[in-house]
Amino acid sequence: MPKIFKNIRVGLDEDLKEKLEWLSPNFTDYRILRQSVDARKKSQIHFVYSVEVAEPGEKLQKLEIVLPKVNRSFDKKPVIVGAGPAGLFAALRLIEYGVKCVLIERGSKAEERIKWINRFWRYGELNPNNNVCFGEGGAGLYSDGKLITRIKSPHIPYVLNRLVQFGAPSEIEYLSNPHVGSDKIRRLIPKMRDYLLKNGCEIRFDTQVIRLIIKGSKVCGVVTNQGDVYSEHVILATGHSASDMLESLYAQGVYLEGKSFAMGLRIEHPQKLINQRQYGDMHNHPKLKAANYRLTEHDHSSGIGVYSFCMCPGGYVLSSGTEADGLVCNGMSNYSRGSDFANAAIVVSINHHELFGGDLWGGMKLRRELEKKAFEATQKQGGSKQLPAQRVHDFLSNSISALPKKVSSPSGVIPIKFNQILPKFMLDYLTKSLEKFDKLIPGFAGTDGYFYGVESRTSCPLRVTRDPDTLESISHKGLFPCGEGAGYAGGITSAACDGIKIADKIIEQLK
Ligand SMILES: Cc1cc2nc3c(=O)[nH]c(=O)nc-3n(C[C@H](O)[C@H](O)[C@H](O)COP(=O)(O)OP(=O)(O)OC[C@H]3O[C@@H](n4cnc5c(N)ncnc54)[C@H](O)[C@@H]3O)c2cc1C
Repeated sequence: MPKIFKNIRVGLDEDLKEKLEWLSPNFTDYRILRQSVDARKKSQIHFVYSVEVAEPGEKLQKLEIVLPKVNRSFDKKPVIVGAGPAGLFAALRLIEYGVKCVLIERGSKAEERIKWINRFWRYGELNPNNNVCFGEGGAGLYSDGKLITRIKSPHIPYVLNRLVQFGAPSEIEYLSNPHVGSDKIRRLIPKMRDYLLKNGCEIRFDTQVIRLIIKGSKVCGVVTNQGDVYSEHVILATGHSASDMLESLYAQGVYLEGKSFAMGLRIEHPQKLINQRQYGDMHNHPKLKAANYRLTEHDHSSGIGVYSFCMCPGGYVLSSGTEADGLVCNGMSNYSRGSDFANAAIVVSINHHELFGGDLWGGMKLRRELEKKAFEATQKQGGSKQLPAQRVHDFLSNSISALPKKVSSPSGVIPIKFNQILPKFMLDYLTKSLEKFDKLIPGFAGTDGYFYGVESRTSCPLRVTRDPDTLESISHKGLFPCGEGAGYAGGITSAACDGIKIADKIIEQLK
């Protein structure tokens, strides 16, 4: 039996293989199960490994997840709405079980979609169906591709394994902080699509679902701008930006509930500054990649938290809205994490009940209001496509000065004061947290940092409530709310896991 060695410390100038030779002198093969960096003591930064080691006569097991074919089918194929991580993985799972399905996507194929995104960043022309959130691949296509998740799901190894099969780097299966990068995601999504098409998934691009077809309290299909599609299983994975879909569900009487979420700004610094603060004297070591950070501040009296979110080392800040009169920012990086900038969202928690009481749409309204204000503020300054931005020290003194000539955002920036956009409570909590964050990472609130706005799409302010056993909407049978837009995921991996969970539930009906 191959042995497993845990917590092997390997210094930056040491070699894992040499350590293994000492631990298991006759080893013939090894497999890394986990790798992380421990940079808590800057003078002793090291890697920590868990490794499976084989000796002569032993063989290492490869992770193989093969799903058994179900030799039965539904009268009408299950329909999946939305080709983001949740919808794609729901489709993949059904197809691997041998169950044919229909995948409906309002946007175009990734290759077409990319052209529209470039037009938006360059000229400010927004295509409402092909942008950083909509189109094949969903919000995931232009994401940073960090695959870390806080959920504990048995499906995580399957998700990582299949991503590797479609072209993601193999190390994502063992790194404690797996990262694919936007460039690699954009290459793997078309491969996933080809696999789905070859194995019986019908994909309808440029097809927008307008509403559900409902009989009594049962969903039996969807109305699209290209005609009706009938099915007794509708997986709704439209993401948290599809507010039109949520409004349509509400109008048709589907049960929704308000959900707490977070909004704020995105901060950018030179990556060099973050590397120096996190790695100290070792910051130039070739084995260390662009450094990241995670910051949190909790106000015990109000219960409000301010925290960093979706930190993108070596990344870019993207204009990622879906409405022509709203501005939204988000962050991404490529696999190499090679840009000169580090960015992260700094967001304030928004408790639905405390802030909006019984107003179901309170969170959505606030989100829309901030995005519109951001758009209007930049228009007033003569902006056409740029994101609003303010230096951190100007933010703290409510002043405005010129922004650096070089920033990461492909749309550029325009200086504005964020006190015109954000509500007072958000400004106050952001200001307070900056003091603390600057103590943890000296220079964080200094002259080199600047904020972009608005970071409003961290997660969905609503949930399409589902029954925990059947995973169907509690008001409508046959409707399977799924992924981030339904309020059941918060990132690529968790959305993919949710898609799988729903697909497995539907498969149960055939078994
Ligand atoms: C720039 C950026 C960076 C990010 N970085 C990360 C990261 O590093 N790590 C991470 O875990 N998460 C990241 N995220 C978040 C992540 O992308 C989302 O959590 C994830 O994509 C949610 O998956 P989903 O399938 O639930 O929804 P989405 O990915 O939003 O997909 C929804 C799909 O539904 C389609 N759709 C919507 N309405 C309709 C309709 N009416 N008819 C037909 N189709 C419709 C949309 O076009 C879209 O393709 C990032 C997001 C962005 C925008």
